[in-house]
Amino acid sequence: MATRIAVIGGGIVGLATARALHGLVPDAEIVVFEKDSTVGTGQTGHNSGVVHSGIYYRPGTLKARLCVDGARRMRAYCEDRDLPRRTVGKVVVAVTEEELPGLEELGRRGAANGVEDVELLDREGLRRVEPAVRGIAALYLPGAMIVDFRMVCVAIARELDAAGVDVRVGAPVEFVQETADGVLVGLAEGTERFDVAVNCAGLYADRVAGSDPHGPRIVPFRGEYYALRPGAAARIAGMVYPVPDPRFPFLGVHLTPTIDGGVEAGPNAVLAFAREGYRRTDVDVHELWWTLSFPGFRRLAAEQWRSGLAELRRSFSAKAFAAELARLLPWVTPRDLRRTRSGVRAQAVGPDGALLDDFVVSERGMIVDVISAPSPAATAAFAIADHLAGMVTGRMTAIGGDDS
Ligand SMILES: Cc1cc2nc3c(=O)[nH]c(=O)nc-3n(C[C@H](O)[C@H](O)[C@H](O)COP(=O)(O)OP(=O)(O)OC[C@H]3O[C@@H](n4cnc5c(N)ncnc54)[C@H](O)[C@@H]3O)c2cc1C
Repeated sequence: MATRIAVIGGGIVGLATARALHGLVPDAEIVVFEKDSTVGTGQTGHNSGVVHSGIYYRPGTLKARLCVDGARRMRAYCEDRDLPRRTVGKVVVAVTEEELPGLEELGRRGAANGVEDVELLDREGLRRVEPAVRGIAALYLPGAMIVDFRMVCVAIARELDAAGVDVRVGAPVEFVQETADGVLVGLAEGTERFDVAVNCAGLYADRVAGSDPHGPRIVPFRGEYYALRPGAAARIAGMVYPVPDPRFPFLGVHLTPTIDGGVEAGPNAVLAFAREGYRRTDVDVHELWWTLSFPGFRRLAAEQWRSGLAELRRSFSAKAFAAELARLLPWVTPRDLRRTRSGVRAQAVGPDGALLDDFVVSERGMIVDVISAPSPAATAAFAIADHLAGMVTGRMTAIGGDDS
């Protein structure tokens, strides 16, 4: 009998993992369970679409390696299949002298991580690349690209389908549990047995993993975007990022061109009152209670209430958002901005209130739980997938279940 593998979550990590598993164990019966009626609807379908180059991450870390390798493969995947993409370039801009050491550190990290094609620009250099952006120095990555990660998901799902992998949409998984008889996946219509399972449920990954009172939990943070009105958008050539604040795992409000030729500003980061709380009015009492009752969240709130309030103010007021953006674009006014879409980030928070910015993967018997796959997980999906598929096949070999 063929080995049966369940992948929970039809986001970019789940789909890429199913693809990698099919490559490693072509005879296995693989089922991808996606709760929604189509793939790529979670974080993957609501992100900035940036293929990150790998300058942010500490050299030698898994995140750095997976990002650089993954970015190269993501670009190649989109080019080979002619998926929507644009090479728009990127500047990371220091506005003050105090930000220069942070900018130089990013340059060093990029070089150590093997990121090619990075240039350090002075004020004049920045003016040549982005005349409308204020700054005293910048790192310039002319080859930086944006893609449509949702379309990447659709493409992978089609390939999986053609290869005989069962991508089941409209199939919410209630639990995944190891038993003496194998791994049981709980569905509305009953349970299904598998030999091994990978939980890539994004915003719901901790719930699917079952509640470990000592483990991290997912706290949903909504990231809201504004669209620049056409006159303002025409003044921006490519991606424009601030030097990130090392205290937070977020990259700061930035400007990103979109595939259809617009420019978006955002995202901020405000607590969402539901895991899929894309609107400020979306509240799920049960999910909100799960967040508020978590000691890790209460510690985080006690420590970061000041920055939380500032984010909230920017969420409600275009004027406050424009004021933040004016650090980089001194000419911008609220009239240049139009509120547009939002995404929700699955932020892993430790029981001590720490914001975890690395990948969090845990194992329980024959189940691999991807508790947190934060940015740049969309960029790095193919590299993360190889890593996860290696873990899965490693477990199968350990029990002699690999029939390939
Ligand atoms: C606002 C924002 C901007 C970002 N910008 C970037 C960027 O520019 N570049 C980048 O590389 N990364 C970016 N990221 C991060 C990136 O989007 C994520 O790291 C990545 O999409 C994670 O993919 P995933 O497959 O793990 O999760 P998801 O895309 O969330 O997929 C999880 C899937 O599991 C499904 N699911 C959940 N529960 C169940 C269940 N019980 N049963 C069945 N299915 C279930 C969901 O419906 C969903 O489809 C951004 C994230 C956000 C929120």
